[in-house]
Amino acid sequence: MEGLPNTVWQPAVEAGFVDEVRRFVKQRIVPLANEIDAKDLYPAEIVRDLAKLGCNAISLPKKFGGRELGYAHSVAACEEIGYGSAAVAICLITIFQAQTMLNTFGSESLKQQYLPQFARGLIASYALTEASHGSDIRKLETKARREGDGWVLNGEKSFITSGSRAELFVILAQTDVGVSVFVVPRESAGVSTYIGENSATFGLRNGPHVNVRLQDVRLPLDHLVGQEGKGVRQAVTTLDYSRTLAAGISVGIARAAFDAALVFARDRTAFDQKVVNFQGIQWYFADMLAKIDAARLLVYEAARALDNHDDVIRRASAAKLFASEVATEVAARCVQICGAYGTMVNAPFGRFMRDAKTYEIGGGSSEVLKNALAKRVVNYAAEL
Ligand SMILES: Cc1cc2nc3c(=O)[nH]c(=O)nc-3n(C[C@H](O)[C@H](O)[C@H](O)COP(=O)(O)OP(=O)(O)OC[C@H]3O[C@@H](n4cnc5c(N)ncnc54)[C@H](O)[C@@H]3O)c2cc1C
Repeated sequence: MEGLPNTVWQPAVEAGFVDEVRRFVKQRIVPLANEIDAKDLYPAEIVRDLAKLGCNAISLPKKFGGRELGYAHSVAACEEIGYGSAAVAICLITIFQAQTMLNTFGSESLKQQYLPQFARGLIASYALTEASHGSDIRKLETKARREGDGWVLNGEKSFITSGSRAELFVILAQTDVGVSVFVVPRESAGVSTYIGENSATFGLRNGPHVNVRLQDVRLPLDHLVGQEGKGVRQAVTTLDYSRTLAAGISVGIARAAFDAALVFARDRTAFDQKVVNFQGIQWYFADMLAKIDAARLLVYEAARALDNHDDVIRRASAAKLFASEVATEVAARCVQICGAYGTMVNAPFGRFMRDAKTYEIGGGSSEVLKNALAKRVVNYAAEL
């Protein structure tokens, strides 16, 4: 677990925090990682135990049961858990997405009602995507209308991570004035989930992504989160946080592949010497080390930017774009280093490659992130 790439600068993370998470990952997550992936399971027991360890409300205010730690801690937890299993780590991401949306935009009554439940292990999902709206959420088919003293929601969300076990959904729906955000308890009448034909992915398998159906779901007025019609802006703000977490997970995947390949190369003999002694192989590792370090620096810079509200879109987009692509490159390179062993179903490299590649799409595709960065570049060009 003490791999070389995790010794890089990790600012603003309290001493002992990472060690505690690492111990849990080694004992509880690593032994189950292949099974969770192979069977596409939601690891509910692990998620509840992560809550007991204090991992599910790391950056929430203390008055809501959180630890009120800087965002680098949430990112570090995702990186460490991602090292053991990216599928487990994305369970935390959907929880963090829901709490970020509520904590940043929710009314005081909504915060009081739901935020304290996260430290006790509440499982949540973040539902933007619909069958015909993925990257583009500016207009949605899911509708919310005012009726009497509440809201009524109708529609269907697709591809919802953690949806198989979520107890709370944060859902985007269209009202008369634009896209808006609602918090929807799973037990609300009219909420149902099902596993759609295209729900299972080859990577980030934490239980099949589900479709969430909303049929005349009635919500109290205060279950609108933030301002009516401002849902896209709120969603993008929330995504800046979760993209940084996703980038942390990508670094975790890359580190795990690096360490596993290094152990193989250290122990495997070819042409009367250890594979790690071939210069060509050493250069692969040198190259990967530099790229993982660079990704990691971007990730913790994005965490700093989130705490300081400082050019967040740029930092979060660059971190996820770069880290997810580095993870895919590193995982594929590690297969190569391990030869036939790298391709074996019993070896973890297939999982690393599938998880890494999937994160070039989920939570904001590389193209969409490049668009965000390009917009900044064009604005900057006008200032030169
Ligand atoms: C593992 C996983 C988990 C997910 N979990 C959730 C979840 O919990 N909640 C949720 O709401 N959604 C979830 N999604 C959906 C995810 O957010 C969408 O898949 C993603 O936003 C991309 O949308 P899409 O697949 O419909 O692709 P599309 O939007 O149809 O895009 C297709 C292709 O066109 C590119 N493209 C799109 N727009 C542009 C543009 N303007 N410029 C250049 N290229 C463009 C895309 O990058 C992609 O390559 C998940 C997806 C995955 C893979």
